[in-house]
Amino acid sequence: MKPKDILKQAQEGKYALGSFNFSTAEVLRAIIESAQAAKSPVIVSTSEGEADFFGLRQAAALVESWRLQTGLPIILNLDHGKSLDKIKQAVEAGYSAIHFDGSKYDYEENIAKTKEAVDFVKSVNQDIIVEGELGYLRGSSSLHEEILEIKEEDLTKPDQAADFVQRTGIDSLAMVIGNAHGVYTQSPEKLRLNRLGEIKAAVGGQVFLVLHGGSGVPPEDVRGAVELGIVKVNVNTDMRLAWRQGLEKSLQESQDATPYKLLQRSYEAVREVVKNKISTFKT
Ligand SMILES: [Zn+2]
Repeated sequence: MKPKDILKQAQEGKYALGSFNFSTAEVLRAIIESAQAAKSPVIVSTSEGEADFFGLRQAAALVESWRLQTGLPIILNLDHGKSLDKIKQAVEAGYSAIHFDGSKYDYEENIAKTKEAVDFVKSVNQDIIVEGELGYLRGSSSLHEEILEIKEEDLTKPDQAADFVQRTGIDSLAMVIGNAHGVYTQSPEKLRLNRLGEIKAAVGGQVFLVLHGGSGVPPEDVRGAVELGIVKVNVNTDMRLAWRQGLEKSLQESQDATPYKLLQRSYEAVREVVKNKISTFKT
């Protein structure tokens, strides 16, 4: 199945696919086995840093082996690609989706750089999904003790979103509607679902809507967003925290140094997080 058809199916079925990050083989296995148990297509992602650790070609080869073994539709996505160079490498390695994050640039520069990424990817392979990002997404994929403050000007503006989609030719749009990367212990994130509705009305049905920062958002907010048309929800932090807790437990319990034994609890913990997320995204 083509990557776009996988997302289209989600759009029509009113559910979202989780985009789950990995940088180790047992996490990838946990994601895919969880998706398989739920009979759900899935997106697996590497950030630039995660890809540097795992290897772009190695990620593509391993994901392909999982596709063959499970028969599951699996999209391999470069998450927050920041440079055209990295995007070229990912496309060459066989990634089926590319997220170009030009949100740090001012509006016009974001458009120019995103369009450059779209034009490059589409010149190689029309079927690869390209996601652009508009708005100021705060945080990072970890625990945050400070209070999260999202300002009105951080949010994606509906009229700009329509213009951005039209001028860049992206397939998917990542937006800021109260979401942030990471988990904020002092201030749970609250989605502005009204804003999502306005963005959707402005861009029409021509683009897939994406929510980053799927960790730390209350499940009812995520469900509301999925009902309004979000088809991809990015998750990283909740898995990282579970992975670490699993490892700490193993280390406390045993003096063993066998990697596959030590990582068993991490594998199980990540599997559980993915399972819960997938059931949340089904609305
Ligand atoms: Zn993100």
